[in-house]
Amino acid sequence: MYNSKSMNAESFISHEEILDTLEYANKNKNNLNLINTILEKASKEKGLTHREAAVLLTCEDKEIINKLYLLAEKIKINYYGKRIVIFAPLYLSNYCVNKCVYCPYHIQNKHITRKKLTQEEIVREVTALQDMGHKRLALEAGEDPVNNPISYILECINTIYNIKHKNGAIRRVNVNIAATTTENYEKLKRAGIGTYILFQETYYKDSYEKLHPAGPKHNYAYHTEAMDRAMAGGIDDVGLGVLFGLERYAYDFVGLLMHAEHLEAVHGVGPHTISVPRIKRADDIDPSAFDNGIDDDTFAKICALIRISVPYTGMIISTRESQAVRRRVLRLGISQVSGASRTSVGGYYQPESEEENTSQFDVSDNRTLDEVVNWLMRLGYIPSFCTACYREGRTGDRFMSLCKSGQIQNCCHPNALMTLKEYLEDYASPDTQKIGKMIIQNEIKNIPNEKVRAIAEAHLNDMEHGKRDFRF
Ligand code: SAM
Repeated sequence: MYNSKSMNAESFISHEEILDTLEYANKNKNNLNLINTILEKASKEKGLTHREAAVLLTCEDKEIINKLYLLAEKIKINYYGKRIVIFAPLYLSNYCVNKCVYCPYHIQNKHITRKKLTQEEIVREVTALQDMGHKRLALEAGEDPVNNPISYILECINTIYNIKHKNGAIRRVNVNIAATTTENYEKLKRAGIGTYILFQETYYKDSYEKLHPAGPKHNYAYHTEAMDRAMAGGIDDVGLGVLFGLERYAYDFVGLLMHAEHLEAVHGVGPHTISVPRIKRADDIDPSAFDNGIDDDTFAKICALIRISVPYTGMIISTRESQAVRRRVLRLGISQVSGASRTSVGGYYQPESEEENTSQFDVSDNRTLDEVVNWLMRLGYIPSFCTACYREGRTGDRFMSLCKSGQIQNCCHPNALMTLKEYLEDYASPDTQKIGKMIIQNEIKNIPNEKVRAIAEAHLNDMEHGKRDFRF
């Protein structure tokens, strides 16, 4: 039986409830009265239930879809302004004991080169990332209790936070590793991680079990209940996602929102982020072998709908997507993008040779970080390297209350400008510097509180004289 407060995966992600929801959505996909009422509710900018969102997802009326896009754009601006947070993934190890059929790290892949970074190699990788200007990382690793035990992940985090090279620093380490125990989540929390990210891949249990035929990841309940253990372990920023292409997108879309509702119902705080990966070509993986691929229009609709359904939840897009797709969905709700990503183990210090292949998937956006920052600014965004909330203890519900208090423009906005300034001073090309300076000059005026504005101006000035790392 469906119960969003249950701690049992099959109850808070009830298969019957998803099927009922999809049937209800299908029945009402042309019910303009209902659809307009849902849009009216969404325009209050407080979110939608999975049932309401499913109706909009199923509706094919062009005018309605247009309204939906306009609303998503409005909510995006109201909650996130022009800021886009930037991060990079760091692949620690591709050793894996699972058999995920869509991932080249699966245990049966004998021709992929297996590699695990030593602490010295991490220093080289992170130094290369710092030299680009990155301040936030997402750690990625396969699941292998012997090669990548939690002690290894913790050691890597400790190494990363302690690398100080020129003016560089990694100030927030998010972690995307396999579902684990509450004790291990407590250890990750103590190690100072930001968000714990775990993609569900698919919420449809039958498919999930077929897609993960062996290994610890085969256990649907253990995987689906991981965020509850993470929160019990003290991690209050968690990141959800499904891998679009594996299952029917409508099923997974509803499951994703039900998962967000469950976290809100049980822990009083929804997911910090939602990622929207689509399956990509990889070493021995051909995406066309999966029947549920989604086209760019459907992808855009999903992004817009997530934006209006969970306005407080950040949305992440990776370099799995091309520049053109990234540009399109940035408007519709994305708040974080990766830049200059390498999905190979050790690829930042030394790009992979032809013979060696450790990558998880092919990336579609190969631009440098400077090119991405430059591009974002030309599109009217403010690239942000901010890590202030987590460092000031504004995580979980404290972050959500900042969102709800309307103080974002006095906090996130100046923080974005100050971290952009750091990037311009230390890493940017002359052209990026030129545009960035103009943006900062214009945007500083948009800090409403006079006192905050004066302090931000003083900090920006101090940065020109070598000072770093200011935050509100
Ligand atoms: N091993 C961890 C786990 O089991 O959750 C997580 C790390 S894995 C490096 C990160 C994510 O990459 C996976 O959750 C999956 O969604 C995604 N991924 C795997 N194969 C992919 C592919 N061929 N194309 C796109 N994304 C893929």
